[in-house]
Amino acid sequence: RAKADGRHRYRFHDEQVEAEVRQRVTLIEEMHEAFAEAQFELYYQPQIDTRTPRLVGLEALLRWNHPTRGLLSPGSFIPVAETSGFVLEIEAWVLRQACQQMSAWRAQGFLGSATVGVNLSPLQFKTAEFEANILAALSDTGLPPRCLELEITERSVAGRPETVARLVERLTAKGIGFSIDDFGTGYSSLQYLKKLAVKKIKVAQGFVSDMMADPGDASIVRAIISLGQELGYQVIAEGVESEEQRDFLQDKGCFLFQGFLFGKPQPVSALTEQFRKGGLVLPDGRVIPVS
Ligand code: C2E
Ligand code: MG
Ligand code: MG
Ligand code: MG
Repeated sequence: RAKADGRHRYRFHDEQVEAEVRQRVTLIEEMHEAFAEAQFELYYQPQIDTRTPRLVGLEALLRWNHPTRGLLSPGSFIPVAETSGFVLEIEAWVLRQACQQMSAWRAQGFLGSATVGVNLSPLQFKTAEFEANILAALSDTGLPPRCLELEITERSVAGRPETVARLVERLTAKGIGFSIDDFGTGYSSLQYLKKLAVKKIKVAQGFVSDMMADPGDASIVRAIISLGQELGYQVIAEGVESEEQRDFLQDKGCFLFQGFLFGKPQPVSALTEQFRKGGLVLPDGRVIPVS
């Protein structure tokens, strides 16, 4: 009886694994088609300095207009793309698209000194063409290097800190900016981070969303802000949704924000329409000039 159950469970598990593999293969095939059918799209989320107030940047966030499943967020397909290496094609497209869009907005007289943030996948640091691709995207689109900010995660640094440090240093020398995304959630040591020529850290959303209720998270956020200040980094808080969170962060010395309180990720058309009418429209109705 026990044996039969065991066998049954085993077969069930087997079928489940098989179904998952099939699903992943389908998703990868669909991703290839998505390019041909132009189903990928970048949304842009504002980053605000509340002291001025000023729009300091826009983060490019990938969306997939899937023919049957609707608008998909990167969390549902990027990890799969990373297992197949196909993520590199996606990233090449994202980088070019973001540079091109930023260049177009600038040509229309908008977003003078703002940056466009592009998320990098750890796999990209392993390719020989990485540096050349980035420089080519900039020169082909005419975007000044200082307008590009590459977001790396601690995941990218883990395992090859020296290689990443050298790449970051070379690109920084060309004027490109770097930030560490989801700061505090990875495994990299401060020893490695110290070696990186990064000037900005993004406080991970999880700490921000829990800090008002959880004293532990509040302490971590305070510690990250002071660490940033001590090391001369800019510190931007991600996932800020309430005025209470904003006030708490400002009180601790953080004035750069990205989160629903200051705007959700939006498609190009929606942002361009706002810019033409006079600036970025915040959810509370305030307008921040962008020209
Ligand atoms: P991320 O880079 O940390 O981006 C921030 C994520 O938080 C975005 O989710 C954004 O929509 C969400 N967010 C921003 N403010 C708030 C808020 O106030 N509340 C809540 N609940 N969420 C907020 P999204 O767009 O689903 O992206 C998820 C992750 O996928 C990104 O996290 C990034 O790691 C990755 N990703 C996005 N685009 C790309 C891409 O082009 N390439 C790669 N490799 N990864 C990407
Ligand atoms: Mg990011
Ligand atoms: Mg993040
Ligand atoms: Mg917590």
